[in-house]
Amino acid sequence: MNLVKTLATKYFILLLSFVLVVSTLLVAMIFSSTLQSVPRKSFAFKSQNLEVQEEIRLPIIMYHNILNSRKGKYVVSEQQLEDDFSAFLKHGFTPVFMSDVIDWVDGKTTLPTKPIVITFDDGHYNNIHYGIPIAKRLGVKFMINPVTSFSEFTVRSEDHSNPNYSHITWDQMREAHESGIVEFGNHTHRMHKFKPRFGIMRQGGESDATYTKTLTEDINESQDNFTRAGVPVPQTFAYPFGKYSKESKQILLDLGFRALLTCDEWINTVRKGDETSLHKLGRFNRDGHLSTAEIINRLENGKVKT
Ligand SMILES: [Zn+2]
Repeated sequence: MNLVKTLATKYFILLLSFVLVVSTLLVAMIFSSTLQSVPRKSFAFKSQNLEVQEEIRLPIIMYHNILNSRKGKYVVSEQQLEDDFSAFLKHGFTPVFMSDVIDWVDGKTTLPTKPIVITFDDGHYNNIHYGIPIAKRLGVKFMINPVTSFSEFTVRSEDHSNPNYSHITWDQMREAHESGIVEFGNHTHRMHKFKPRFGIMRQGGESDATYTKTLTEDINESQDNFTRAGVPVPQTFAYPFGKYSKESKQILLDLGFRALLTCDEWINTVRKGDETSLHKLGRFNRDGHLSTAEIINRLENGKVKT
């Protein structure tokens, strides 16, 4: 009887040890999986940050005149414009407004996978006369950056709507805006000149205060003209002749501009949540001597600025 009792006790102790070992192992496993979840969490945090820094490649093209009478560095024909717009679409580009890009940076909207911004500088009437019918037919939108003193001259002359020399009038701006095809940017009121300064460049010996005041007054006069025309106040500024100074960026940001367009030729990298990625945007000049294929090549394979 004693032997049986001893054996039973032995087996009981063995069983107890086994249960203890197994449960210790289980606790260890649960504990180690808890530990593992810590780095997993930090990985998720990292990928969330990456999402904030999402970036896009943004080519911007710059046109000036649309004329059938002559070719030039700043002139394309109606046919060239139609060929360009068709080629953009064929190559998968979707034209968007600069304001769409600004909204995307602010996290307010989405953008198509291959966006492009089409711009026309100086506000020639031929931009709407020839450009809007083509854009309407193909489903394209574009930006016009008028020099508002040129528009003022056309309005005062009472000789408007001539595609060879007129500039867009206030009424035409409002109509173009209402069509949903055109948005406007600021290109100064009367600083699109070579003298006394080159565009908005600072003059030798000019004080900070005078320089800031001169730019502010002129650009605000231009903004007031857009308001009177009944179109949204531009958030985009296009430097006349692509010229900018050390101080101009801060002056323009203080005036409320969000996107600044140069004539430096590169494909932009724009980052969501990073408004500074809008402060020095490059544009490709659409030289009328180039073929549509060459333009597409630059927009797709040009230098990328990060
Ligand atoms: Zn210009």
